[in-house]
Amino acid sequence: MKRIQLNLILKNISCFCLTAALSMAIASGSAKAAEAKHFIIIGVDGMSPNGVEKAETPVMHELMKEGAYTLHARGVMPTSSSPNWASMIMGAGPEQHGITSNDWETNKFEIPPIAVGAGGIFPTIFLVLHEQMPSSESAVFHDWDGFGRLFERNAVKVVENPKGPTNTMSAAVAYWEAHKPTFLFVHMDHVDGAGHHFGHGTPEYYAAVTVADRLIGDMVSAVKKSGNWDETILLVTADHGGKGKKHGGATLEEIEIPWIIRGPGVVTNHEIKTPVNTYDTACTVAYVFHLTQPSCWIGKPVVEAFGSQTSK
Ligand SMILES: [Zn+2]
Repeated sequence: MKRIQLNLILKNISCFCLTAALSMAIASGSAKAAEAKHFIIIGVDGMSPNGVEKAETPVMHELMKEGAYTLHARGVMPTSSSPNWASMIMGAGPEQHGITSNDWETNKFEIPPIAVGAGGIFPTIFLVLHEQMPSSESAVFHDWDGFGRLFERNAVKVVENPKGPTNTMSAAVAYWEAHKPTFLFVHMDHVDGAGHHFGHGTPEYYAAVTVADRLIGDMVSAVKKSGNWDETILLVTADHGGKGKKHGGATLEEIEIPWIIRGPGVVTNHEIKTPVNTYDTACTVAYVFHLTQPSCWIGKPVVEAFGSQTSK
């Protein structure tokens, strides 16, 4: 009898310890995620997974080692810039937001969006942050001018359109050093330019990817130097890849994109196996900042990057 009681007590203790250890682990996981005070997205236009793998990209490879990644994330159809950048920040596809081509303008479209937010367009992550986290500050530095029409300008504190990747990243780094925004989006266009001019998979294309890698490294150095590295999530991705000198078609080379994330709460050295779509990006930002995503979004946060295998 005594032995049974003792066994029961021991069992309960070990059960309690296990539960305590588990909840402590979960708590430390969410506490880590809660530590994320900044989210930086660096989007490299036309950077294919092949580019990341074949070009000299020590910075991106270090980020992959430090974080979670997939080189098989997908953009949307058509594999053009506007539909894909829009999907990335709008948490949905062209069927929902209506940005079906590069010809899209707020007053010129083929199909209207299924929902319109306070900014007069399909709601982006910038509006979600602005509305649900009023203390947050967002900033956008974009190389391709077309990116500037895809989000609510009044939800973003600073929007700059410097020309060229170096100027764009320099301006973004300087802004980081001075203001440390909650959400910073940096767009570089030159890799897509190399793809169109020389062709994807050419030495010139890979050289352009290496330049992108070096410029991403400039941002990494700036965030480390400012002492915010441990509370900042950095995500490197692209809108589409390419084939020959083109993109816009329906091939794997055009639709697959890299998706590399590191920072507080993100698992390390982990290849994400669950499917990742570009519209999951906005949802992942909302997830990190504990925001509710609009019901018109179709994406889901990439929770596997944060150590969860369950949803998605
Ligand atoms: Zn593009």
